[in-house]
Amino acid sequence: MLDDKIFLKQVLDTTPDQVVVINDSGEIVFVNKSWQNFGEQNDCTCCDVWEQKNYLVECKKAADNGDEFGLNAYQGILAIIEQQQSDFYLEYPCHSENEKRWFMMRVVPFELSDKKYYVISHQNITERKLAEEQVQKLAAIDGLTDIANRGFFDTFLEQEWNRCQRLGMPLSLAIIDIDDFKLLNDTYGHQQGDTCLKKVAKVLNEFTKRPGDLCARFGGEEFVLVYGNTSSDQALLVLNDILEKLKHLNIENKHSLPSRTLTVSVGLTTITPNSDFTCAHLIKEADDLLYKAKNKGKDALCVSDLAFI
Ligand code: GH3
Ligand code: MG
Ligand code: MG
Repeated sequence: MLDDKIFLKQVLDTTPDQVVVINDSGEIVFVNKSWQNFGEQNDCTCCDVWEQKNYLVECKKAADNGDEFGLNAYQGILAIIEQQQSDFYLEYPCHSENEKRWFMMRVVPFELSDKKYYVISHQNITERKLAEEQVQKLAAIDGLTDIANRGFFDTFLEQEWNRCQRLGMPLSLAIIDIDDFKLLNDTYGHQQGDTCLKKVAKVLNEFTKRPGDLCARFGGEEFVLVYGNTSSDQALLVLNDILEKLKHLNIENKHSLPSRTLTVSVGLTTITPNSDFTCAHLIKEADDLLYKAKNKGKDALCVSDLAFI
């Protein structure tokens, strides 16, 4: 090898991982080409001369500005410097304006001439993260109707319950059941039944636009709608619009008793979440109301407002 130093520098500058070496005060003593390039491409004008910067101070600044990952990195690196752990690993998002990106940071110590150094390498793990996101998404979506499935609904309702409880806001839940769907299947075939479920799901989905809203397939021919921060009156207005829109689909169900075109029954309830109740109570109440609507002859909506108890 002509010159070991040049050779090793070439190796470090060729790796796509961004490498920074710091000393035990957090001062940067080395960065490789990938690190420099990343800084330039992301407008890090503050860092023309990386070796004059202190990595720990930068992490602390980010942490003080509320950056959770800056705080994790700061605490992790400190834990290694203080020999509380032997290495540190952190996955973090670093999205740009135009693309989603994730990195994995690893910190490993070494000693040279009685001095302590820490190699901090950053590896782009976006491909893996996107694949994981896709898997999570697929696991949360109902295969037939393309809306959220029961599992996702359970998680979402729990989250929304907690959020509304924290903020003292009302939470509305509706269970919607297609009337005489078995007759529709028997009359027009299972394929037509599937098409009908997709059409109904599409309409319901159009009425869940805010982050606290969710439309999900509860099972079979039953759907659920969650409306966070929504009073009984507000939810009722939306439900009436939905029923109107479903009527206008004009899906034939000629042997159905309430009407010769598709109808649904609805149980709608509202509560301001508190520690005396759980999500299960809310679901049970909506289900009881749905049962009541069916007993009234179907094509009906029954509503209760528990928001002020
Ligand atoms: P009600 O008015 O009392 O709700 O009567 P219903 O016929 O709608 O309810 P029932 O529970 O008797 O029947 C539901 C039917 O929904 C039976 C089942 O075969 C059908 N079903 C469930 N999932 C699917 C599906 O994914 N596709 C189709 N085509 N049918 C389904
Ligand atoms: Mg049913
Ligand atoms: Mg039904």
